[in-house]
Amino acid sequence: MDCERSVAADTALKQSQGNATPNAAAAQEPWNLPHLMALALWLPVGTWLLHHSATNTATAIWLLMCLIGFALAERTRPYRADWHPSVHSMGSDAALLLAAALVDGVLKHGGLLLAQWIATQGQSPGWASDWPLLVAVPAAVLVGELGPYALHRWAHIHPLGWRWHRLHHTPEQINTSNSVRVHPVNMAWNVASRGLLWWCLGFGTEALAWATMFMLMQSVAVHANVRGHLGPLAWLIGSAEAHRWHHSTRPHEALNYGTAVPLWDQVFGTWHLPKGPGSDAVGRYR
Ligand SMILES: [Zn+2]
Repeated sequence: MDCERSVAADTALKQSQGNATPNAAAAQEPWNLPHLMALALWLPVGTWLLHHSATNTATAIWLLMCLIGFALAERTRPYRADWHPSVHSMGSDAALLLAAALVDGVLKHGGLLLAQWIATQGQSPGWASDWPLLVAVPAAVLVGELGPYALHRWAHIHPLGWRWHRLHHTPEQINTSNSVRVHPVNMAWNVASRGLLWWCLGFGTEALAWATMFMLMQSVAVHANVRGHLGPLAWLIGSAEAHRWHHSTRPHEALNYGTAVPLWDQVFGTWHLPKGPGSDAVGRYR
């Protein structure tokens, strides 16, 4: 009910802001500079954070930095002026972020205990632990996207999956705040499917920390209501211009199930990035 109220509040806010026609302005903006800046900061800031704090703390601080940074960028370079979140909506999104952190912590702790138990049985932790970071981090991102991609696609097809995923598609705008609007059950299957493959391949802690920070940054960046695009880079990493199509209210446009990278969409035929500013109607399509 809270979410329905917040969506109603957002709709009221949108109406009060008048008839914004953002796509023309957005089309004139050549580059998504905040996203490019976040990508440039990922290595130096990540290095500093990992050097000065524990892995979980570093990734949490990085997520907060991304949320604050993109929220500020939305105020100065909005893609659509009528897509700013209301205070009520930000409150419910913050509550869901806390729930997601809890789910993430519980599942990771459970996975760690399982890994420790396996280790005591004398079994190998997997071969990816020996890979250099330059190979292990991109591999961890690609592998980490595969499970959530498959389950995300399933959630759009199967009523059971949609029941838990539709919350993310409820808002009729896309912005930094609702990047964390994910049902705890949806969050659980994302964390579990990602962690299972990571654990099977045996990635090292440092590689997973870098991959996690990249994926968190991407999950915020692709939802950010910021002008501009990534140009050819959008074929390599997730972008706001591609993800806006995923939130389209027209089912044939609502593709692009990947978040951090588009590779699995490209491999499995769900990639959709036509020329132009993107879908002008976002929200639930059923
Ligand atoms: Zn979706």
